[in-house]
Amino acid sequence: MKTNQTEMFIVSAPSGAGKTSLVRRAIGELKDLTVAVSHTTRAQRPAEVDGEDYHFVSRETFEEMIDSDHFLEYAEVFGNYYGTSMGAVNDALTAGQDVILEIDWQGAAQVRQKFSEVISIFILPPSRATLIERLRGRGQDSDDVIERRTAEAVLEMQQYHHADYLIINDDFDEALMELKSVVTSHRVLKSRQAHLHAGLITSLTHE
Ligand code: GDP
Ligand code: ADP
Ligand code: 5GP
Repeated sequence: MKTNQTEMFIVSAPSGAGKTSLVRRAIGELKDLTVAVSHTTRAQRPAEVDGEDYHFVSRETFEEMIDSDHFLEYAEVFGNYYGTSMGAVNDALTAGQDVILEIDWQGAAQVRQKFSEVISIFILPPSRATLIERLRGRGQDSDDVIERRTAEAVLEMQQYHHADYLIINDDFDEALMELKSVVTSHRVLKSRQAHLHAGLITSLTHE
């Protein structure tokens, strides 16, 4: 699935750490970078758009997709299914776009097993109190949902050590710069550049 021209990144974080905000801004500011739109069985939030934030589906549809091997990975998170379809990733990679998967640690482990070259980035908040404040401040979830997410945050955060890169999202612009730097540094790896610019390199290096 992955080619020499495209990279796959995983971004994981506890709910409320800022991954969606950071990924959205990075995509807006770097060209040829996109996010794989996941399928989920959780209810749509007031501010979300079906097909843009997620493909919102019933549990029955999701289970049919599992049975027909539609998913690159899927997991149950906070009592709902979430999954990345093969289609979501393939569309991006065949269009020559680097792709970010915004997925939980269980999904990240599945993807890492299938694609050892995937680059994983973990985002942590500057404190537990800040994480709770951000979840509340987002104003998109009920108190029950916030409580459940807060309770599961420690388990999610314990998974940070599997990642290649660790970003602390305290100052947003600094964290954004760090995320963009990770993507950009992988884009200029010699192996990739030599492949992309083979013609130029030949013309420069041969008499
Ligand atoms: P938010 O991250 O707080 O905005 O909450 P969401 O409801 O959007 O996502 C809930 C959790 O599901 C997050 O921890 C994500 O990491 C995880 N998640 C979202 N999409 C996927 C996916 O496609 N696959 C997997 N495995 N996890 C996902
Ligand atoms: P996630 O996708 O990880 O659940 P979000 O991107 O939805 O997190 O961010 C949660 C909330 O925190 C949002 O309201 C967002 O605007 C806010 N937020 C994110 N990063 C920062 C930051 N560095 N400083 C202050 N607020 C932030
Ligand atoms: P939310 O419900 O707040 O949008 O997302 C909650 C969690 O689900 C997030 O931590 C997010 O990383 C995870 N998540 C979202 N989409 C996927 C997905 O496709 N696969 C997996 N494994 N996790 C996902």
